[in-house]
Amino acid sequence: MPGVFLFDLDMTLVDSSALAQMRRFQLWEEVRRNMHLIRPFPAQGSAAPHELPGLLKADGQAVGVVTSSPRWYAEAVLGQFRIPYDVLVTYGDTENHKPDPEPLLKALQVLGIPPSRQSLYIGDDVGDVESAYHAGLASVAVRWGPSSIFELSSTAPDIFMSKASTLLRRDRIGGRCYIGEALTHGWDFHSHWGSILHCDDDPIVYALGRYFTASDPRHATSVLSGAVLSLKNDDTYAKILGEAIGKAIANLDWTPDYVVPVPMKPSQQRNRFEQLLNEATNHFDEDIELELKGLRCVKEIEGYKQMNPLERSEAIKGAFHSNFKWNGNKVLLIDDVYTTGETTGECVRTLTASGAGEVRVMTLAKDQRVFSRKVCAACGRSMKIRTNSTTNAKFWGCSGYPDHCQNTENF
Ligand SMILES: [Zn+2]
Repeated sequence: MPGVFLFDLDMTLVDSSALAQMRRFQLWEEVRRNMHLIRPFPAQGSAAPHELPGLLKADGQAVGVVTSSPRWYAEAVLGQFRIPYDVLVTYGDTENHKPDPEPLLKALQVLGIPPSRQSLYIGDDVGDVESAYHAGLASVAVRWGPSSIFELSSTAPDIFMSKASTLLRRDRIGGRCYIGEALTHGWDFHSHWGSILHCDDDPIVYALGRYFTASDPRHATSVLSGAVLSLKNDDTYAKILGEAIGKAIANLDWTPDYVVPVPMKPSQQRNRFEQLLNEATNHFDEDIELELKGLRCVKEIEGYKQMNPLERSEAIKGAFHSNFKWNGNKVLLIDDVYTTGETTGECVRTLTASGAGEVRVMTLAKDQRVFSRKVCAACGRSMKIRTNSTTNAKFWGCSGYPDHCQNTENF
């Protein structure tokens, strides 16, 4: 079954940033007068984003555009840039809008293609990633959009793409995932800009893939999430995770002098990073030193996991110690899951206070927001929170009301 390429329009195919405010406040008359301000994005690799639909169609692929803008606007933009398409879904075409899956499912329905991970939705923001997830498509986020790559790291797409021409190498798209996910799953892997997630810039924090918590439906099929958890008890995945860390370090555009793990609590016998990092040394430059005891934990903190970020940052103060002479050298700190960053932040402060030069952080995975959506048991549409006009009581009502479905549930 062939897949399709569905594209978001604004800030994915064309640069409409000059109209962003007018579009946000729905000043459509003003938008209409300023359509000439919409620009193409420059070429990213061998193709410019607005050329992608035409190039894909010439290659025999089905292409659609799914946007939350009105139809007159979308048709005008697509005409202005001579962007061809097989299906166009706009704001007025569905009852629900992104991040609801309805617009994407509508596009697939028109094309007569069932939803599958073979089809891609290419967009620039969190809503695009979430709607692709709910529709059962693979999500692609583009680096040239306005969303910060750090913001997208906790709602990360299946593929993070920096060059438009990536989509034209259809044989390689499957290998464009995160290095930690590819290696733990045993998938095909091609190194590229999006092989690692960029989670923060002060300090710089990388992650090798996505961590889905147990309450996320994606947890069950994420080998990386299971592998990260298992490290607490045994070294089943130490070799493969070590390979992922080692190769990721080797591919950085920055070379540390030392690699240092976040230390275990005083009560913990097992150092979950020991075997993993010894394995990693087989994959990066010999001149990079592994310093397993570069940091020590001198404080046992009770109930740390249950604390909020503010309580955590207070509790973690003074928890670490370093006897090592860093002499201004660069250090890469290793941790398992990057959540809110209090632990790594305190480790970085300790290293810096002990004379380290630049410290960056590499984690096995970045925790992900759960995309939740209440589905109507009667028809599969999304449920919305509604208010009874007589009693003012809240209830779940089907978004297919009144024409398609009357189902309600208690709130
Ligand atoms: Zn329903």
